[in-house]
This record gives sequence, structure tokens and C-alpha cells, in this order.
Amino acid sequence: MVMKTRAYLGLGSNLDTPIEQLRAARTAICAVMGIEEMAFSSLYRSPSMGSKNQPDYVNAVMAIQTDLPPLVLLAALQTIENEHGRVRLERWGARTLDIDILLFGDEVLNFPDLVVPHYGMTERAFVLYPLAEIAPDLAIPNHGKLAELVARCPLNDLVRLSDVV
Ligand code: ATP
Ligand code: MG
Ligand code: MG
Repeated sequence: MVMKTRAYLGLGSNLDTPIEQLRAARTAICAVMGIEEMAFSSLYRSPSMGSKNQPDYVNAVMAIQTDLPPLVLLAALQTIENEHGRVRLERWGARTLDIDILLFGDEVLNFPDLVVPHYGMTERAFVLYPLAEIAPDLAIPNHGKLAELVARCPLNDLVRLSDVV
């Protein structure tokens, strides 16, 4: 029997109708053999953390269960990014789609191409708040309780899109 791992993915887009990009990404992720969706957060909007002349981002966090090994999962997600028109120009530049592996079970991974927990997740509001929405009791390997990280993280103008009237 193959062991299944619960993993959390961070999705973001700020180009070409971001909400549609996240919707399409969710569908594409669910279509990967060996990935099952367990939960999907609300959508959140926030200002870019890269150069300020970029459109706002839309972000969400997805919980999956998978029997893929972590590097195979990363490759599958990068294929989806590329299929959705991701072009890598500047770091943190505008993009149609970013999919990061935030957590892979309770594993700590330090491959050249894959560091888990994702290095930025412990201080990014657009990751912590949607993650806490779908997994409030989570602990982050080497970083303690998610709820405590959230309590220490300013919103930085993050808004939940369903709260916008
Ligand atoms: P950031 O990593 O700060 O969120 P980004 O998501 O825009 O920035 P990318 O261009 O998507 O960065 O990825 C750069 C590289 O990061 C990828 O080629 C990938 O190999 C590597 N990487 C390392 N750890 C991870 C991870 N946990 N999830 C996704 N990519 C990762
Ligand atoms: Mg990223
Ligand atoms: Mg990325």
C-alpha cells in the first residue's frame, strides 16, 4: 500500500483574470493522477510584495492528499504553471500562476529545487490567513503553531474576496 501524504499548496496570480487562473489551476491540480483535493480556502486579495507597479494578487491555499513523492509533485505543479502561461522574468515579477508547496506532511525537505516548509510561508499574510482558514490546528515543522504565526502576522492589506461587497 502506498502512503498518502497531506500537503498544502499556495496558489497566486496577478495577471490575466487572476480568479479564473486560480479556478483553472484548481481544476488542473485535481486532474493530476495521484492528487486528491481535501480543501480549498476562500480567495484573498493583496498588494504585490514585488515591484509596486504590478496589479494586486489573488491567493488561495489548497489542501491535497497525494501518493506522489515531493519532487514528482513539484514537477507536476510546475508543468501546470507553464501550461498556464507562466513566464519567469524578474523575481516576484507579475505572473499568471504561481503554485508553491507550502507543507508536505510534517516533512522538512532541503533539496536544491524544493525547500519545505516553504521559506516565505511563516511571514506572508496571503499564505497564513488562508491556510488557517482550512487548517486552524496545524503546526509548522520548526516553526510551531500556525495560530501563533497568524497572531503575529499583520494583514498587510489582505482582504478576503467574499468579504468585499
Ligand atoms: P517565492 O518562492 O518567494 O514564493 P516564487 O514562487 O515566485 O517566489 P518561483 O519562480 O515560482 O518563485 O520558483 C523559484 C524556484 O523555487 C523553483 O524553480 C523551485 O525549484 C524552487 N522551490 C523551492 N522550494 C519550493 C517550494 N516549496 N515550492 C515551489 N517551488 C520551490
Ligand atoms: Mg511563490
Ligand atoms: Mg513559486
